[in-house]
Amino acid sequence: MEPKQWSKVYKKVYKIIGKKTPLYGDCGLLCQKACCQGDSKDGMLLFPGEEVIFMKGPVASYFSLTPVTIKGTADPIKAVFAVCNGTCPRKYRPLSCRIFPFLPIIDASGAVEVIKDPRASICPLVHLEEEDFHGVSDPSFKDSIYEAFDYLIQYPGIREFLDAIYHNAKEVKLIRDLFTGKNSI
Ligand code: SF4
Ligand code: SF4
Repeated sequence: MEPKQWSKVYKKVYKIIGKKTPLYGDCGLLCQKACCQGDSKDGMLLFPGEEVIFMKGPVASYFSLTPVTIKGTADPIKAVFAVCNGTCPRKYRPLSCRIFPFLPIIDASGAVEVIKDPRASICPLVHLEEEDFHGVSDPSFKDSIYEAFDYLIQYPGIREFLDAIYHNAKEVKLIRDLFTGKNSI
């Protein structure tokens, strides 16, 4: 797809999610923005085609981009890894940050399912019991992720990317659990 088309697609996706966050208030106030505290090696994968948003204009100055290959269950997938300086204006956040700590996956029937990201152990919200999480979270945030990805998966490479990311996320969790003495996914 042409860069202009991708740009339009992601602007729509960002608009669907809007200013929603996991909680009704600013969850970053609870955890001192734990998910923005990485060092210069930490970053996030951009979704297929999303890099066009980060290659020019004022947004480009907040990110450095590196091509990477991610191993999924099928062929390796080419992607772009973005490292930020931890202070990006909210309107410039990549999609991965906008949906954190959730991860959209493709379920057995081929539909989008939104789960807690197995890699998101840094987020205090994912450690809440389901009942407590429901008590404090804004359900419209998760609904907006469903809506955004129901739209996004029609575009080339998105399904394959989601499969690869999920595969990768489960591996990360498995390894982390081995080190911390847990063994479930
Ligand atoms: S780590 Fe979780 S609770 Fe903290 S700002 Fe990020 S999404 Fe919100
Ligand atoms: S890109 Fe922005 S929202 Fe995402 S981790 Fe970096 S500073 Fe935080």
